[in-house]
Amino acid sequence: MSGFTRDTKHYGDKLVYEALGTKWRRYHDGHCGCGLNWVTEHAEPAGFTVVRAGSGWVALTGPGLTEGVDESALTANALWEAVTGKPGEGWVETVRVMDRSEAAEKKRKAENDAAYADRRERAAQSKKDPATPAQLKYLSTLVARAGRERFDTAFNKAVKGTGVAPRGAEEKTQAALGRLTKVAARKLITALVGP
Ligand SMILES: [Zn+2]
Repeated sequence: MSGFTRDTKHYGDKLVYEALGTKWRRYHDGHCGCGLNWVTEHAEPAGFTVVRAGSGWVALTGPGLTEGVDESALTANALWEAVTGKPGEGWVETVRVMDRSEAAEKKRKAENDAAYADRRERAAQSKKDPATPAQLKYLSTLVARAGRERFDTAFNKAVKGTGVAPRGAEEKTQAALGRLTKVAARKLITALVGP
């Protein structure tokens, strides 16, 4: 998500604007259409500075965006004008503040650890009692017949409460089947065999 951010760990005491690449590329394509990189060809020449970049986003600072602005009425107008060549709409945005206090960091770490432990437990569970080769073979034929949508619905219903995670958005069918426990596989077969 794009937005104004304060995060002492990553930006010190600076206010930054984190711009989502897909979104700003779309704005640029729709209004300017020069086909060049909106960051290096428009934002930087207009005086904005990239202070950090990740996969698919950049954090920017600069005049009119994060500098010399009224922090109670922030807008991305200055960047919009630089990137699209048109005046902005003036939507006022709030600042997202990342709490970097020791307590907040501890809480974040605990949440991450818990999620990780949960994933490991699920993986271990399906290793302990995996679906049999016969189940998987039968499922492959059922899946081909059912179609993607019906399979996904049945899969997620079958794994509920079994410790097996729902199907991932990008997960291949065979990979999803490979995670099934014997119990979940049996439920899925029952669901797909029916009309
Ligand atoms: Zn352009």
